[in-house]
Amino acid sequence: MSQAGAGSRDIEAPEALAALFGDQALIRVFAALDQEGEETRIVGGALRNALLGRPTHEIDLATTLLPEAVMARANAAGLRAIPTGVAHGTVTLLAGEKTFEVTTLREDIATDGRRAIVLFGRSFETDALRRDFTINALSMTRDGRLFDYTGGLDDIAARKVRFIGEPARRIAEDYLRILRFFRFSADFGDGLLDSAGRIAAIRKRDGLARLSRERIHAELLKLLSARQAATVCTEICADGLLHLLIASVPNPARLRRVVAIVPPQDPLLRLAALCVNLPEDAARLRERLRLSNAEAERLERAALALVTLHGLNEPPARGDLRGLLFRHGRQASGDAIILAEADARPGHDDEWGRARKFLLDTEEPRLPFSGADMIARGIVEGRAVGEALKELQARWIRAGFPTDPARLARLLDETPRGTT
Ligand code: ATP
Ligand code: MG
Repeated sequence: MSQAGAGSRDIEAPEALAALFGDQALIRVFAALDQEGEETRIVGGALRNALLGRPTHEIDLATTLLPEAVMARANAAGLRAIPTGVAHGTVTLLAGEKTFEVTTLREDIATDGRRAIVLFGRSFETDALRRDFTINALSMTRDGRLFDYTGGLDDIAARKVRFIGEPARRIAEDYLRILRFFRFSADFGDGLLDSAGRIAAIRKRDGLARLSRERIHAELLKLLSARQAATVCTEICADGLLHLLIASVPNPARLRRVVAIVPPQDPLLRLAALCVNLPEDAARLRERLRLSNAEAERLERAALALVTLHGLNEPPARGDLRGLLFRHGRQASGDAIILAEADARPGHDDEWGRARKFLLDTEEPRLPFSGADMIARGIVEGRAVGEALKELQARWIRAGFPTDPARLARLLDETPRGTT
């Protein structure tokens, strides 16, 4: 099937889509909207995901009804309607626990690379053609007829992520599509970018500077969560695009290793893999991507812990791992050990695996002494208390973080009472 303009394919929906129709909430929404010559269809991601056997998180609907009419009909049918983005035609309907985004068919008549001025229409085909990728442009009627105006079905089967129409033009309409192209290719494709899209992304790369840091943040983390994140990052790094997003020199080889070491999707760890070696790298990312405090702190702490592991080709001994846990906590130690393993020369896989497990399973050591113990030993309150406690802590760490009371009492006795 060729691209836009080749005509629609109106076929009976494949078995995979039948399950969507069992949804009672969806049946209520269709019943409310789909009458008196108006038509509503399921569109976009829900169909794509169902065809690929992926879970559907939300069902988006497109309709010939204008937003006000969607609200009126929904209210009349006892559904709650929220005018989420009426200027762009979107109303959110609540049916029971579920929400549906219902968007009036539209055509983008003017675009400035970020926003579109939209005209409402009545053609499902025109609405399909304004969408980004062929895999996102299917629509299906209430009675199970599937419409494919752009060759999306074939592309879904072949796991190809292709722009609808001419990629460079579609990118110039909305530069966010460059990042969506990377993300969808990493999630649904085999990770190798469609070459026409890839070339257009390179040619139009200056447009990335027009995207807000928040949008780059959101899309980059979605890209990093995707199955083929490492492959796509390797490609876009080679194409000179990845450093534009993160304002650092990316290390896609290290990302590949981290993904192999810990396959579960952890986008922040993957971001660290891509470009965090030192605490200042984390600080730069915080600025560049407007990371949340929690995100930035995780990266900064991981970097601080990693600094103590730089250059190791095999993991530290147990005692040192305990020290890592004590000083940096479980999350940062765990992150750092993975990054250190990814940086190490190959070999010692089992040892690294055991070190990772140790950090996960071992309780974080807590200093079993306090200032009160020092004062009880007759140390005068003030700076001397802090100094004595520091000395005691160093001895306790050297002794291997003991917990046994007799041993602790001895350590306490042996510690000098400071300069007072
Ligand atoms: P997800 O599972 O990530 O939500 P989705 O396909 O539902 O996937 P959305 O971002 O929710 O993606 O967008 C819904 C639909 O709207 C897409 O499937 C696509 O058809 C269209 N769309 C979204 N963003 C754009 C864009 N920037 N340009 C063109 N079409 C877009
Ligand atoms: Mg969606």
